Amino acid sequence: MTSMTKYDILQKYYGYYSFREGQEVLIDQILQGKDVLGIMPTGAGKSVCYQVPALLLPGITLVISPLISLMKDQVQSLNQAGVHAAYINSSLSENQIAKALTLAGQGQYKIIYVAPERLETERFLHFAQSVDISMVAVDEAHCISQWGQDFRPSYLNIVQFVRRLPKRPILSAFTATATGEVKDDIICVLGLDNPETLVTGFDRQNLFFSVEHAKSRTRYLQHYVADHDKESGIIYCATRKNVEKVYETLLKEGIAVTKYHAGLTNEERRQNQDDFIYDRKSVIVATNAFGMGIDKSNVRYVLHYNMPQSMENYYQEAGRAGRDGEPSDCVLLYSAQDIMINRFLLENKEVNPNFTEEEYRTIRERDEKRLQTMNFYCNTKECLRTYILRYFGEESRGACGKCGNCQKHYVEKDMTSEARQVIQCLDDLDERYGINVVVGTLLGGKSAKLREYRVERYPSYGTLHKFREQEIKDLIGQMMQEGYLRQTQDKYALLQTTGKAQDIMDGICTVTVKMEPRSSRIIEEDDRIKGTGKRRSDILNTRGLEFFDILRGLRMSIAREESLPPYLVFSDKTLVDMCVRLPMNREEMMEVNGMGAFKYEKYGGRFLECIREHTGGIREKFYFGELSEVLGKGKKR
Ligand code: ADP
Ligand code: ZN
Repeated sequence: MTSMTKYDILQKYYGYYSFREGQEVLIDQILQGKDVLGIMPTGAGKSVCYQVPALLLPGITLVISPLISLMKDQVQSLNQAGVHAAYINSSLSENQIAKALTLAGQGQYKIIYVAPERLETERFLHFAQSVDISMVAVDEAHCISQWGQDFRPSYLNIVQFVRRLPKRPILSAFTATATGEVKDDIICVLGLDNPETLVTGFDRQNLFFSVEHAKSRTRYLQHYVADHDKESGIIYCATRKNVEKVYETLLKEGIAVTKYHAGLTNEERRQNQDDFIYDRKSVIVATNAFGMGIDKSNVRYVLHYNMPQSMENYYQEAGRAGRDGEPSDCVLLYSAQDIMINRFLLENKEVNPNFTEEEYRTIRERDEKRLQTMNFYCNTKECLRTYILRYFGEESRGACGKCGNCQKHYVEKDMTSEARQVIQCLDDLDERYGINVVVGTLLGGKSAKLREYRVERYPSYGTLHKFREQEIKDLIGQMMQEGYLRQTQDKYALLQTTGKAQDIMDGICTVTVKMEPRSSRIIEEDDRIKGTGKRRSDILNTRGLEFFDILRGLRMSIAREESLPPYLVFSDKTLVDMCVRLPMNREEMMEVNGMGAFKYEKYGGRFLECIREHTGGIREKFYFGELSEVLGKGKKR
């Protein structure tokens, strides 16, 4: 084993030919005996960072992981690749644990996943002291920080445990949480020794973000799901009631759909979750109770039927799409009512009864602020990716060109003088009304409510009558984002000016707003629209897609025989690559992305047979365009 290089390992066990951004740096440092801290977003490939060195280091690697379901998934995935690995957690009986430890003591496993609670037990400690532990890898390392939302006291055991080992192992830590406090905590509390710290960007390039202001969300959803037939997707709703409603609608449409929320029994939840993971149902409609510890890599879309309560929630939930790095969609269906639903949920959220009035108010204000940020996301016209990354503290690299907003064609308009009218109007109204009255006044509206308030007596009445309602709302939204206006943090949400508004009146600042063009000519003239948000399988032509389905069928039968989730047999990417290359022999099959040696031994023959049978040995072209383009950069090594 020691004569193998990291590249050999990557190819043999994972079937990949090159490392991703950041992976190689961390692996090299570990192999030189250094501690490391890797901060990478979900789906970036953290596992490879510790698994590859684990297979090259002389002794055993212990991986500390908080989630039982994830451990099982990871171990299954390693076993699938031909690596001997095991997990030890409370889902095993004492007997099973004893057996696993005996085998481990005999050197059966290079990689052992353990729950942090185990580290305290005498039996486990005894075992660990009697073998050679090369590395302790801490997954979800932010759980050690009291600052984070997921603090787990049991993570503190790791420190004690490491101290009691006869030889200090290499420590490696991984997380997707990047705040400075958490990072410092991990280094300090875990006692990492001058670690190489690598932070890859938070951007998930394969995710296509968009916000849809659909007239009927239900109709949008029906179309979307029908259009993405056979693909795995998650639909998040804010409430159980909505979950039931959306579930029923899709069920009537004949979609293979299941559901998940806290109102179901444990058994129902487990069953439904498995149906989704094992691809027996392609869509799951769920509340945010669903997703923790779900490692399903081929989720092709995450739709939000309701707006989540914060960007943190949104990015985490949406981020469950495309863990395999393949293009996937994150669509948020916006409706203005959602802000009300969320306010209601926040107001009725369970709070610690020991909180003082003051503390409670602080929490409410923070919640409200997060909700506003989320609302801005839904209404912004700037690049959505830029908006997200800025929120998470990353500098913008300019518009991404591949999100819903970048692909819409807005025109920028200087609206400084209109902004002055808005400020004037707020002054007229004494800042005692919400946005709808303000907009109504500016438009010169005649609704009963406006008449009752007698707004026509103000000088600002009707001054913006040439504009559309949405345009004025966009202007106000822009002014809020730039801090000239704010809404009060109560249920009345009164629209008010801030001190900064004077700068507009004084002509120090200008306000520009992006608008939907009134004529569609601009769009026709501009053919730069880039087709992103596409599927890997979009490169296949009709015949290719048919063949892709045949391969998926074979994958499904194998998965059933072995009681494995299909994505642990082969990823979608691997199957698409097979359709393109149509390998006819072992050598060609080994070129396929994701085809490791062990997997070839297990399944290669059946797939070769299937390909030969269906093509008659003739290599038909199952894709659009040129082969070199389709294969992208190609195989490096
Ligand atoms: P994370 O733990 O960071 O969320 P994973 O370790 O689960 O991410 O990896 C996400 C996906 O990326 C997995 O399907 C994994 O096999 C794949 N992957 C990891 N490294 C590479 C690589 N170098 N080339 C291609 N795919 C990779
Ligand atoms: Zn963009």
